[in-house]
Amino acid sequence: MTSEKEISYIPKIIVAIDGFSSSGKSTMARELAKRVGYIYIDSGAMYRAVTLFAMNHGLIAGDGNVSKEELIRALPSLDIKFQPSAGEDGIQHTLLNGKDVEQEIRSMGVSHNVSPIAEIPEVRQRLVEIQQEFGKDKGIVMDGRDIGTTVFPEAELKIFVNAGVHERARRRWRELVQKGTDINFEDVLRNLEARDKIDTTREVSPLRKAPDAVELNNDAITHEEQMEWLLKIFQERTENL
Ligand code: C5P
Repeated sequence: MTSEKEISYIPKIIVAIDGFSSSGKSTMARELAKRVGYIYIDSGAMYRAVTLFAMNHGLIAGDGNVSKEELIRALPSLDIKFQPSAGEDGIQHTLLNGKDVEQEIRSMGVSHNVSPIAEIPEVRQRLVEIQQEFGKDKGIVMDGRDIGTTVFPEAELKIFVNAGVHERARRRWRELVQKGTDINFEDVLRNLEARDKIDTTREVSPLRKAPDAVELNNDAITHEEQMEWLLKIFQERTENL
């Protein structure tokens, strides 16, 4: 499945991977895309980029209050793109109006403000339009919260990933510490709990498992087992197309 020749024969479908924060869905989505020669889009990075823009332009007050009107007015001028990393990490970098913001959008400050920004219907509408444009030729793996329900309700393969909140917080905390961030576990846990709550209860496109999504709880399986499972389902869905 990984040779160039074989990749050229893989039919192009849309793979939607939704799930809770730090459930490992981005790693899984990125790796699947690489293995089958698809484009990978991290839709969470797009919400994070809009949040960074709002923070840098003083549109989020100290108490978390967002200047919605101003942000909505600025939306058409926001250009969000992705580019492959120049280094060896294989990580795609997020560009906001031409500037590489990949590191900044992963900060705790952005994590703290992102869910209230993602609740704004106009923000969602704009980002969904861009996401649908990315997927117009199929051959794409996109991960997020509403990909199988709102962005691509017709996606040929939908996965819903979950894991317990403590396990997710542990993974996220380890990742941040490895990157050199000085952060305690409790703060990471509280941030995940707060985001889960807003993401599942917001009015527009709340995080939900699409009725036709395949569910994966990855609390107790290895990364390799998870990828094997995903590649098998992908193969089943594409082999008769
Ligand atoms: O995936 P990640 O955790 O980086 O996403 C950051 C935030 O962006 C989520 O907590 C959620 O509030 C928002 N989001 C969303 N819809 C998506 C992707 C992310 O609301 N499709």
